[in-house]
Amino acid sequence: MLGLRTRLFLAVVIPVAIVALVVLLLGRLRIDVILGTAPLVVTAVVASWWFAGREDRRLRRMADAALRMAAGDFNVELLDRQGDDVSRLAQALNRLADASASTFHRLETESRLVRSIIETMREGVMAVDQDGRITLVNDAMLRLTGHRGAAAGLSPAEVILAPELLQAIQEVLEGNAVSREISVSKPQPLTLLVNGAPLADGEGALAVVHDTTELHRLHQMRRDFVANVSHELRNPVATIQAAVETLGAFADDAPAGDDERRLLATISRQTARMAALVRDLLGLARIESGQVVLEPRTTDLDDLLSGLLSAFEGAAKEKGISFDLAVAPGTPRALCDASALHTVIGNLLDNAVKYARPGDRIEVSVRHCQDRQVAIDVSDTGPGIAEEHLPRLFERFYRVDAGRSRELGGTGLGLAIVKHLCAAMGGGVSVRSAVGVGTTFTVMLPAALDVAGE
Ligand code: ADP
Repeated sequence: MLGLRTRLFLAVVIPVAIVALVVLLLGRLRIDVILGTAPLVVTAVVASWWFAGREDRRLRRMADAALRMAAGDFNVELLDRQGDDVSRLAQALNRLADASASTFHRLETESRLVRSIIETMREGVMAVDQDGRITLVNDAMLRLTGHRGAAAGLSPAEVILAPELLQAIQEVLEGNAVSREISVSKPQPLTLLVNGAPLADGEGALAVVHDTTELHRLHQMRRDFVANVSHELRNPVATIQAAVETLGAFADDAPAGDDERRLLATISRQTARMAALVRDLLGLARIESGQVVLEPRTTDLDDLLSGLLSAFEGAAKEKGISFDLAVAPGTPRALCDASALHTVIGNLLDNAVKYARPGDRIEVSVRHCQDRQVAIDVSDTGPGIAEEHLPRLFERFYRVDAGRSRELGGTGLGLAIVKHLCAAMGGGVSVRSAVGVGTTFTVMLPAALDVAGE
């Protein structure tokens, strides 16, 4: 390929030489004319030579600038103000250098920020590329794994001592999203919550590990505290309750005044509330700590529910509420702990009766669901619960109307107990409600294998 200088030279000199030769050959030109025009031709040749060289230099400067930018040096400023196409190219290169410099600077700042966020995180972070090599790992992760020294470029197996953690990270690398708690014994006994997901476009995987050991210890401390306090309170409360009952009996026999009777009634009501609170707190603490050992057995729901309903009949009749039990034909028996289910449905019926108004109806129905499950619906035509309360209804001490609940002898723990017991039986509980229409609690339980019709 010919350079610009050569091309310009050929473009000017060759035509001039050809024209001169032709004219000379044709004899139309005299030697003095040739000598006269020679300086002109020489000047033209030298000028074009110099001009072509200058253009070459300008383009070379631009090529150099582009190469420097490609190498990451954006400190480029081309001073070319000829106003032609080449100087427009120079200005474009200047602008490109400025824009690239600011983009590069922004990316560098963002990358430094991300890096320092990752470094200051208490969670362990590890990123692995598609070849299974570590591309990023923070100090927290190295502490959790027990690895010392640089880890970038190594495989997770070379860094992680605990097989359980390695297994979870391998699963993420295989393309599975993982979110689970694991217990590891190396380099020290810890409970870890591993969250991991593959990166987009198969570019590897990212895992974030949260040390939940302390959290579990605190939860355990809280549970132990509640269990110990309620255990310690149980006997004094029972003693006070018994003493109040005895005093009440004395008052019935002796000519006690109305004030004494009222005070005794108040003490009696409040000690009964306290006893119920202590009972529910202790029950919940026992369930949570796993002290309640459930014995799942094939259970005939018809028998269990009929027995329960008859226990509530008196209270229902007193309030003018009607009861109904409906077991769909062919419904399988449930695999559950009869005593736990008794507590669950007992709590739901107690609430239904407690909050229902005279004339309301309560229905307990049993049906077979898909996935080998049995559903027990406890529905009432009571006041209903506004939608905004439903997501928090199963939290301990959550009450729609705390005053009304206390007045009716509620502890605010019934539904929390229901939720825990259902989960412990391998089932669950949910609620549907509409204000002024009524409420339905649905308890799901695993169906027994020896079910009718299977
Ligand atoms: P409580 O001892 O206060 O009844 P629970 O945990 O059993 O506590 O219930 C929580 C709250 O849910 C109650 O305070 C009440 O406001 C509401 N609730 C529960 N069951 C019903 C129901 N069948 N109808 C209307 N409200 C209910």
